Amino acid sequence: MSVLTRGIRTFLLGELLAGMWLTLKYFFKPKVTINYPHEKGFLSPRFRGEHALRRYPSGEERCIACKLCEAICPAQAIVIEAGPRENDGSRRTTRYDIDMTKCIYCGFCQEACPVDAIVEGPNFEFATETREELMYNKDKLLDNGDRWESEIAANIEMDTPYR
Ligand code: SF4
Ligand code: SF4
Repeated sequence: MSVLTRGIRTFLLGELLAGMWLTLKYFFKPKVTINYPHEKGFLSPRFRGEHALRRYPSGEERCIACKLCEAICPAQAIVIEAGPRENDGSRRTTRYDIDMTKCIYCGFCQEACPVDAIVEGPNFEFATETREELMYNKDKLLDNGDRWESEIAANIEMDTPYR
């Protein structure tokens, strides 16, 4: 661009008008921003958020303590201890801990689980003030499962054709 053209554009505020025209164009287009946390964006059914341990509709916990999730976890974030349950002798976890500060949200635990017990649910709002709060135990994970079961079940259902 020659010096003369540049001078004319500067004198006539060409850059400013171009900027204002762009603003005007987008003024009438649908907004791409959302008013979080009052509005939430779309989440894929495969979104890998906070972990949860699920139960069957009868209330029985799904986990059979096979330890596949513990074995496959690349971050070694899962610790399981297991033994026979007192009332029926079935094998269950006596301890199921996840160190969420180690977890890399790879989803391998969920993939490995033969009974869809451990899952990564849709909750991404679980920031804490202390590190200790991110050491999840079995009670916390089962509680997450109870709280998010309907959303988790719907997501698994949607993903079923691709599994
Ligand atoms: S998501 Fe990956 S890193 Fe996190 S607990 Fe599961 S297997 Fe381990
Ligand atoms: S959560 Fe699933 S993979 Fe992990 S021990 Fe229980 S049944 Fe096995």
